[in-house]
Amino acid sequence: MKSKTFRIASLTLALLALAAARAASAQATGVAVYPPTGARFLPGQRFDLRVEGKGSAPYAATLSVNGRPVAFTSPNDPVTSDGVSAPGWGGFDVRGYSLRHPGTYVLDATFTDASGVAVSASATLTVEAVGADAGHRGRDDGRGIRNVVIFLGDGMGVAHRTAARIVSQGVTGGTPNGRLAMDTMPAVGLVSTHSLNSIITDSAPGMACYTTGNHFKNNQEGVFPANVSNPFYAPRVEYLGHFLHRTRGTSTGIVTTADIEDATPAANAVYTQARGNGTGIVDQYLDEADVEWSRTGGSGLKVLLGGGRRWFVPSSDTFTSRASSTDYAALPADLLAGWGLPPRAAGAVDPGRDLVSDFQSAGFAYADSKTALDARLAGRPDRLLGLFAWGNMNTAVDKLSERRFKRGIAGYTDTVVQDHQAPDQPMLDEMTTAALSILRRSREGFFLMVEGAHIDKQSHQMDAERAIGETIEFDRAIAVGLDFARRDGHTLVLVTADHECSGFALIGGLSGGLAHLQGLPSDTATYDPAVQPERQKVVGTYDAAAFPAYPKLDDGYPATLDVDGKLLVGFGASGDRWENWLTPAKPSRESLTPTALVTLLAGAGYPSNVPATRLDKKAAGYFIRGQAVGAEQAVHTASDVPLSAYARDPADWMPFVGAYQNTDVFFKIAEVLSR
Ligand SMILES: [Zn+2]
Repeated sequence: MKSKTFRIASLTLALLALAAARAASAQATGVAVYPPTGARFLPGQRFDLRVEGKGSAPYAATLSVNGRPVAFTSPNDPVTSDGVSAPGWGGFDVRGYSLRHPGTYVLDATFTDASGVAVSASATLTVEAVGADAGHRGRDDGRGIRNVVIFLGDGMGVAHRTAARIVSQGVTGGTPNGRLAMDTMPAVGLVSTHSLNSIITDSAPGMACYTTGNHFKNNQEGVFPANVSNPFYAPRVEYLGHFLHRTRGTSTGIVTTADIEDATPAANAVYTQARGNGTGIVDQYLDEADVEWSRTGGSGLKVLLGGGRRWFVPSSDTFTSRASSTDYAALPADLLAGWGLPPRAAGAVDPGRDLVSDFQSAGFAYADSKTALDARLAGRPDRLLGLFAWGNMNTAVDKLSERRFKRGIAGYTDTVVQDHQAPDQPMLDEMTTAALSILRRSREGFFLMVEGAHIDKQSHQMDAERAIGETIEFDRAIAVGLDFARRDGHTLVLVTADHECSGFALIGGLSGGLAHLQGLPSDTATYDPAVQPERQKVVGTYDAAAFPAYPKLDDGYPATLDVDGKLLVGFGASGDRWENWLTPAKPSRESLTPTALVTLLAGAGYPSNVPATRLDKKAAGYFIRGQAVGAEQAVHTASDVPLSAYARDPADWMPFVGAYQNTDVFFKIAEVLSR
């Protein structure tokens, strides 16, 4: 009796426990299918499909495309330890998928966890009819577009372009004395710049929208925002350079004044959810370069020029930034197979890697200075790696100062580039010339991206003079590209930006002259909201702005950006700052700088990258309160950006006239390539 009671009690407890377990293992949450609704592709362009959810293992999933079941390429019953999904998540992938026929496709997915309850998700994607032949060689008559060059002025809005024109050309009686190279391009469009999760994009999806045709989340490039255990495992969308290399055999070139791991250059060849994971990013440049010409996948990378040597030297070196935490290993086997990549592309956590040496072993000539660049080019290399600084390269203002100093011109120093341990850096037009000298030998054509990075970086710092100097340098690189394209006849040149930065506004000219400005009493000492700052009184607006004039030196650049009547810039997306209207002698320390170099620069008096802390600007300047962003840098804005296009045949630039969104640019390029 006693034992029977016990057994009944035990059974009741067991049933209660089971019910509790059922309640605990409720149906999966966060169930989603990727690509998300709104995704668009070219016929034949590769992308990954993924169904995922969070719950209790084991998991199961189904997926159909327009009602036809699709088999997953990942293991059919991954548990939390599948190595690809984030902890607690289960995911099922189809790697390297593509659709050949234009149209609308509906993805229907189910995801089931231990609860046994299937949760549904769906998405609608489009394969565009334009560019159906983009993956084949150009027109039979030999007149088609074979080469694509994108000049990406990071953060470059309309006002940056106007400032570069006013400063480099001048204005007389209301008429500009000359035009920028980018002003000579026949087509002008207006581009909206939003990302997948915000009206305001950062540079990662800002660039990747042009190179994939899709929106991504901020900080992410070439991948959809799935819950994976490593940011490099996320579902990919094939880049334009990769697509053209695979289908046509084109070569790819990437040129930037930034650290080469930065978002804009990486969003042409590297697939990751974490734009800051530099070790893995630079590894992927080489490991997926397809240097053996398999033409089954990879980027066809032949030219990589910029800063960022810190990622290419072993973690034992002084100025290194390589670390396990920013690397990746073991890309999933089905990813490698689906994307036509060799087993060595799986990656390794190898902070001790000597990546310069690995690039050289793969046939890349290597240059670490302008002098070395010239020497390497004399040998007509097939592939070229140039790393001209440890982090970001220096700005045009600072590189020019070094060159003028070396020529013995009074008033210039090489202090800044020396302090950055990069005393001999090329200008962007020289880097563009170098890239084209190699890429032009590709019979199948090429894709080249050239970035003017400091237009954005110095606008963030509200260093108006360095931002303007970089825009002028950028335009001279565009002139090189246009000169090539006009002779070549098979090249499409686009000039645009990923977003506007800082709400850059040309508010007037300096009134009273430079000497007057420099002789004013300190505004800091007399700071009182009731008293107008002396340096606010010298902002000449309307008539008082008149026509600023900047004498040039024989290198083609303004002798100085501090002249009587100088152009004055306001920042509509401002952080807090001190303003004295003069070019700072020293640039701010960049965030993309190896730790050991940051220490040296701090010791040498380079200010931090928080503009409100700039003591040199504060010394005599007046305080300007930012809007929502407080004591921080200026920020990106949601403003549209201009796009200029050139091709010899008007039919090839006509698609770029008008107002459209960033992802449309990718399909317009494909349309031109398939003409
Ligand atoms: Zn940007």
